[in-house]
Order: sequence, then structure tokens, then C-alpha cells
Amino acid sequence: MDVAKEEFLREFGRDYGYPGGPKTIDEIRATEFKRLSGMAYLDHAGATLYSELQMEAIFKDLTANVYGNPHSQSDSSFATSEIVRSARQQVLDYLKASPKDYKCIFTSGATAALKLVGEAFPWSHQSSFVYTMENHNSVLGIREYALEQGAQAYAVDIEEAEHDAFTGNVASVQATKHQILTRNEAKFLDKDHTGSAYNLFAFPSECNFSGSKFCLELVKIVKEDLIRYSDGSPSLKGRWKVLIDAAKGCATEPPDLSKYPADFVVISFYKLFGYPTGLGALIVHTDAAKLLKRTYFSGGTVAASIADINYVKRREGIEELFEDGTIPFLSIASLCHGFKVLNSLTIPAISRHTSSLATYLRNILVALRHPNGTSICTIYGSRSSKTLCNEMGPVVSFNLKQPDGSWVGHREVEKLASLSGIQLRTGCFCNPGACAKYLGLTHSDLATNIEAGHVCWDDCDIINGKPTGAVRVSLGYMSTYEDIKKFIDFVATFFVSTQTYAKDVRSQFCGRSIHCADTGFENRYSASQLDLKSITVYPIKSCAGFSMDRWPLSSRGLLHDREWLLQSLTGETLTQKKVSVQHLLCLDIFLSNV
Ligand SMILES: *Cc1c(COP(=O)(O)O)cnc(C)c1O
Repeated sequence: MDVAKEEFLREFGRDYGYPGGPKTIDEIRATEFKRLSGMAYLDHAGATLYSELQMEAIFKDLTANVYGNPHSQSDSSFATSEIVRSARQQVLDYLKASPKDYKCIFTSGATAALKLVGEAFPWSHQSSFVYTMENHNSVLGIREYALEQGAQAYAVDIEEAEHDAFTGNVASVQATKHQILTRNEAKFLDKDHTGSAYNLFAFPSECNFSGSKFCLELVKIVKEDLIRYSDGSPSLKGRWKVLIDAAKGCATEPPDLSKYPADFVVISFYKLFGYPTGLGALIVHTDAAKLLKRTYFSGGTVAASIADINYVKRREGIEELFEDGTIPFLSIASLCHGFKVLNSLTIPAISRHTSSLATYLRNILVALRHPNGTSICTIYGSRSSKTLCNEMGPVVSFNLKQPDGSWVGHREVEKLASLSGIQLRTGCFCNPGACAKYLGLTHSDLATNIEAGHVCWDDCDIINGKPTGAVRVSLGYMSTYEDIKKFIDFVATFFVSTQTYAKDVRSQFCGRSIHCADTGFENRYSASQLDLKSITVYPIKSCAGFSMDRWPLSSRGLLHDREWLLQSLTGETLTQKKVSVQHLLCLDIFLSNV
């Protein structure tokens, strides 16, 4: 064993690798994730991976049983109903939700569950939709329903204001309001807060950008009107309903609804155990469910209707009222095999395992220095005492820096990582509030970026000297020390300039970082300004090119442009995805000397 791993185990050995569990992490990887050999998959916040044994069990289950449409009245239909009932129970158990108080409504994902709440919430002119800055786009979108119905919406930053010395719990929080949004200013001004309206407060249990966890005591704090606004405005009267977006947090720390009785919780199963996709759930308190208004009716949600008169009788059960059409019953039947994996390892052990890796990675990244002593990165997500919760989930988000303090573009990191067999995600991760907050982007920065043509997924990773997104490493229950080691070695090789070749190698590969111009795209490409500055030949798609002083022309432009490619001896086209970094490097050097 290498010295670094021995050191890691000395510090984290009690938490890492499921000691005392049914299988060690190395056994899990060797038997259930054989397909990962040589690859470091570090995008579990994007989607975690299913175990190969889990898939075998699902296959066996589906090939051995006959599951019919649950709306029929046959034996196969009863088999389905039974397995759906037990899946709902497992979901509730996972959140420690009593079946007396909570129901599990299956949806096509966390987003669909959020949309359902937004669509059916009893908004009125007196309502407010308040959400933390750090929230997924799918939560922000709820505000469209709120504004449409004349409610107001605003984002808040929250921090601890008081601590209860007896219980150690947070006693109140201070909220800083951002811009207040309304569709109709007049209505907003003569609002009287009579206290009869329903308001909705939404926050993630863990931020999918930074990994910061939110304190679940917020549920109580919001419901008891214990939020103080920094602008002095009185706390909003009315009845508060609280929504937790647990899509990210649920994989390692499901919210405990027996302690923190939120009204709505949304989750997605591919974030828990990789399979199935297209299935999530809304876990709803029965009292809150009664407030939700349905407009649409459909097969599945209707008890009786008459085609040519305005008559419909809806089904009574909460699940039946909200699940349109035939539920994805075979996907639902697969859930027990996923829960089995999590339950056999146990959630506390998964949480300790993943957080030991994240803490280790954070410590190393903070300690890594350029030879001139400057830090190689800025990590996002604080552990400051003023934030509501000091804990971090298994996510490390950061941007790398050059020795002179300038930023390394996140897309450059992503492309090089992919060449090195490391899968991670970069950008804003659908969380524009967290992105702006952590990267220090003002409204005017964001407007300039959007004007310059920047969209979420493009290559503009630095605009006006500021990053437009971050690099995110996120871990799952099957992540290993070796995955992290591979990533650390990658960062040290390409981004710490101790070896003078680091920078050369990088520019050999991917050219310079893709920094975008400060002005709009049109200006840059207007015909009158076209001016040939250099010619670069790119022999392999997406990899570095080499420069030429001259190149012959044909009637269609540059001679042979896009007319040739490199093949392996077996005739396979070479691309960055199929060839190792070392091979590409040799090829590149070879070609540039031809
Ligand atoms: C993934 C994610 C979502 C979206 O979930 P889908 O099931 O893909 O719709 C929402 N919020 C957070 C925090 C997430 O991580």
C-alpha cells in the first residue's frame, strides 16, 4: 500500500470503506462495479451508479414474476398493487415518515414533484413564495405559478441569528431578502397580511452546487414565524408550508420527517441508487395534500366522468388523486432492489464513507500550492459559524487558479479530466443562485454574460476575468480512495506548476482555455473585421492542435479541411474518448514534428 493511502487510512480508517459492514468497499467495487475499472466516476450529484448485483436482482424479479396493469382486477394486477404499496412504504420508511401523516406520490422525478406542488399550491394575492438563493432551477420555476396567481416571490440568504443555550438548537434566523418579484405592483402594495393566506418556503437539504447542508430546523423556524428580515420588514403572517428539495441530500442523509415535519419533500431515485431513471416522489403531509388543488383529471385520477357534460368525480386517495395515468409500475417494482443496497450498508455508514473522502479531498486541495506559494484553488461552500449548518455533503466544488492568481477555465479542467479517464461535472449545475453567490457574480455580470451569448452548457468558462461556473467533484457510496487519488494526481500533474511541463502539456492538449470576448459575438465575426491571425491543425477531435505558418487553399477553403482523420490499426477512428492521454500526447508530439 502506498504511503499516502496509509496516511489517509490512519486519519479516516474508521469511517472509510464500511468497516464491520457486510462487504468492504474494495469488495463492493470488485464484485458490483466491475464496469468502472480504470475510470474515476466523480459525478454522483449528476447521477449515481447502479450496482451490477442490483440489476441482476431486478432482472430476476421481472423475469420470474408477472406484473400487470394495477388498474385491472387480475392476479397479475394484484401482484403489482402489492409491490407498489410496499415501495411506497419503503420510501416513507427511508424518510422516517409515519404513514398516518405522510403519503408517497410517485412522479417522473424530483422536478415533476416540484412542478406538482407549484401547480396545485393554493396561491392567493396575499401569498408569498420564499426560497433560499441556493436552489435548483426546478425549485425557482415554482415562482412562475406563484406570480401568475398574484402572489409575491423572493429569494433569501439565511444565517443563524440566535442559538438556544438549553437545547443547542437554532432559535431564530436572520434572512436577507433579494429582489422581491411581483407580476402586478399595485396588488402588492395594497396587500394586507390578514394571516389567512398560505405561503411556501423552499430550501434544499443539501445544495447541489456547493454541498452545503441546510439545517432542517428551518422547518420549525419558518412555521413558527421565527425569521427576522434584515430590512426590518415584519415577518409575513399567514400559514407557512415548507418544502424540502432533498434530491441531492437524500443519497447520504435523508431528511428525518419524524423530527422535522416538512409539508413537502421531493426526491429522485436515480440520485439514490442509479436505477431506475424517470422516477421520483413527492412525500407530502396529508394536511398539506388536502390544500392542493388539481385541475387536470385523467385515467388513474378519476372515479367517474361523463364525456359530454361537465361532470367529474375524482378519486379520493391522495396518491390516486395526483398520479396521472398508469404509474411506471415496473420501475417502481425495481425500487426495493435499490433500497436493499442502501439498507445493507446503512445510511450512517454511507454518510461517513463519502464524507471521509470529501474531507480528505478538500484538505489536499487547500494544501496544494504553486511553487510561488499561491493556492491552486478556491473551494466553494463555507464552514463559517454564521451559516445555519456547518456540515458539508460529499461534494467538493472549486475553481483552479494559475500561479499569478488568474483563473483556470472550468471547461478546460473538464476536457482534460475526460482525457484522463475522470468524469466530473462543471458549470453552474442548474443552481444559478448558488453559482452567482459563490462566484461573486453581480446582476450586471450575469447580464453581460448572457448578452455575450453565454448559456449554461457552452464553453465560455471565463468572461471578463471571472469564472462563469465551477468544477464539481461529487461522491457516491461506491466511491473509493483510488478515485480521489486519481483526481488529485490529475490536478497535480496538469495544474500545479512545479513541473514546467504542466502548462506546456496543457496547451499541447487543448489549446488555451476557452475565454470569451467581452463584447457580443456579432462584433467579433463581422466580415469587415475578419483577419487571419494563425492556422492551427487539429489532428484529433477536441485535442490540441499545432500551428502552421501557411496552408494551401482549395476552392472550398483550406485544402483537406475536415477531409481526413486518424485511424487505429484496426480501422477505428481515434477520438479523445477512445485513446489514453499518454497515447494522445505522443501522437501530438509526433505529428507536430512531421
Ligand atoms: C437533481 C436535482 C434536481 C432535479 O431532479 P430530477 O429528478 O432530475 O428532476 C432538483 N434538485 C436538486 C437539488 C437536484 O440535485
